Amino acid sequence: MTAKSHLTTTLVVGFIPLFIFKNDLIHLVDYVAVYLIGLTTGTLFPDIDESRSSIGRKVPLISGFINKTVGHRNLTHNIFLYIPFMIYAYYMGTQTYKLEYILILGFCFGAILHILEDCLTNSGVSNAMKPLLSNFVILGKKYRFKTNERFENYVFYPIVSLILIVEIDLFVHFILFN
Ligand SMILES: [Zn+2]
Repeated sequence: MTAKSHLTTTLVVGFIPLFIFKNDLIHLVDYVAVYLIGLTTGTLFPDIDESRSSIGRKVPLISGFINKTVGHRNLTHNIFLYIPFMIYAYYMGTQTYKLEYILILGFCFGAILHILEDCLTNSGVSNAMKPLLSNFVILGKKYRFKTNERFENYVFYPIVSLILIVEIDLFVHFILFN
């Protein structure tokens, strides 16, 4: 999946908790902003293992090293890399209300959503739950689409973008006029 599809899809899903807790978040706009920064960086991070990805091209040395040593859609595409940090950040965040934990929480959630989104594409992420599951699949192969081809660019991406625009509009209205 391309970076732009990852970003929009992750934000669409990542906004859902904001709607659930919107009455509590109305005076905590700084927390919302930091959470969204975490989400967007986190959802681009896993493709650091692919030197042609948008993040990989920014850090070619690190990206090339990870790609050679562990390969693409392997370690950084493993959900278990993020879950411990997410639980820790959630626990510490609710205890201390420090913004850095909200950032980590958003980052890990964004990365996990990236992995699930990659599962919608042809190549899938069979390593997503290793060593617990040796072959992780969400959709059968015939229901998945090819990265950066017609379906993703002209159907999936526009629909998800539209949902995101509606979500942002609703959320901004709620924050401003309540
Ligand atoms: Zn990926």
